[in-house]
Amino acid sequence: MSIQIPRGTQDILPGQSELWQFIESQARDLCRRYQYKEIRTPIFEHTEVFLRGVGDTTDIVQKEMYSFQDRGGRDITLRPEGTAPVVRSFIENKMFGWATQPVKLFYFGPMFRYERPQAGRFRQFVQFGVEAIGSADPAIDAEVLALAMGMYKGMGLKSLKLVINSLGDKESRTMHREALINHFKPRIGEFCSDCQSRLEKNPLRILDCKKDRDHELMASAPSILEYLNEDSKAYFTKVQEYLKALEIEFEVDPTLVRGLDYYNHTAFEIMSTSEGFGAITTLCGGGRYNGLMEELGGPVTPGIGFAMSIERLIAALDAEQVRPVWDDSIDCYVVSLGESAKDYSVKLVYELRRRGFSAEKDYNDRKAKAQFKAADRLNARYVAVLGDDELAKEVINVKNMETGEQIEVGLDQFIEKFMELQR
Ligand code: ATP
Ligand code: MG
Repeated sequence: MSIQIPRGTQDILPGQSELWQFIESQARDLCRRYQYKEIRTPIFEHTEVFLRGVGDTTDIVQKEMYSFQDRGGRDITLRPEGTAPVVRSFIENKMFGWATQPVKLFYFGPMFRYERPQAGRFRQFVQFGVEAIGSADPAIDAEVLALAMGMYKGMGLKSLKLVINSLGDKESRTMHREALINHFKPRIGEFCSDCQSRLEKNPLRILDCKKDRDHELMASAPSILEYLNEDSKAYFTKVQEYLKALEIEFEVDPTLVRGLDYYNHTAFEIMSTSEGFGAITTLCGGGRYNGLMEELGGPVTPGIGFAMSIERLIAALDAEQVRPVWDDSIDCYVVSLGESAKDYSVKLVYELRRRGFSAEKDYNDRKAKAQFKAADRLNARYVAVLGDDELAKEVINVKNMETGEQIEVGLDQFIEKFMELQR
């Protein structure tokens, strides 16, 4: 039996990898404009980082982690998400002492979750995410939301829905929590076993249950928005005002929750509303986590961030039939005809490449016609033709493929002339 790729993973081949590179370059450019700097954390961490940083009542920790003991007996986990490692690094590297605050970071890399693979759900997937740590200004919430939306809009997507909610501060959440327990407790027996154990540990997560979502008590559950105290209300109002000022459309959905205690204030998701999209429509999720730093042993520091996967971004592009375009041309294809010309072409492409141009030649002794075809396929801006005749005259023929213009230049001046042509 031949060896196959593991379930839930994919090879990204030439033809596709260009799109991935383009998306990554868009993300990097967006972060440059918004002034988020890249952080690269390890692919694996001590399992503890996720137990505490993601929370042991979440699906990620309960069912999805790739965990193992290394040869030294340490508990290690392949990172399932990026926020906890970033916060771990923030504390470890004492970024709270950096002169520039808030510390604005982004990451771009693979995450691992043991999930049931399906459209838009992989076991290895790539996330682009940002974290702004060290400011509790609602303007930074609006900025993070604008950045996330900017990524999708910048790619040309139109069918997008931004949904926001507020989880309030600690006081508001405590009140809401009690109201939830009182609401569900009398009939908790009608809910799934997960929800039963959530009731005391984390009743907010009941609202997020996929099995019991149609239970009548769900729709009538007390809304967090009714439990926001004055401060939390003011914060949420300010975030919305900023979004309106930026002309970013949004909906408020009081059932949107992030289940963990250290999440507070702003929570949000971006969905694709495109018809062609499958069952999973969430493209991006994020929110504020003012309590996470303490949970991981750091000083009290507010933070907010989001994560989006590139797989779902590409699914959204496909659904909307958006084909991003980028320049995939090469500078020069050297066509050579005859034995001596072929040998000489080795040197020519080398010289072009050495000077920073992208250049290609034939390596399969193809006929002239096939070489021109190859040049076409590679989208060559120039084709330089060297036959044994030209070689004898020590000249080479350079054709601008866009204008059809053709010039003959001395072989020893080829590189100089080629550089001139670029100006
Ligand atoms: P879902 O409800 O779809 O499982 P999630 O709540 O687990 O999502 P987050 O942990 O918030 O997702 O991750 C942020 C984003 O990462 C998601 O909005 C989605 O775009 C993407 N994502 C999450 N899990 C996967 C996966 N297994 N494969 C591809 N993308 C994923
Ligand atoms: Mg999930």
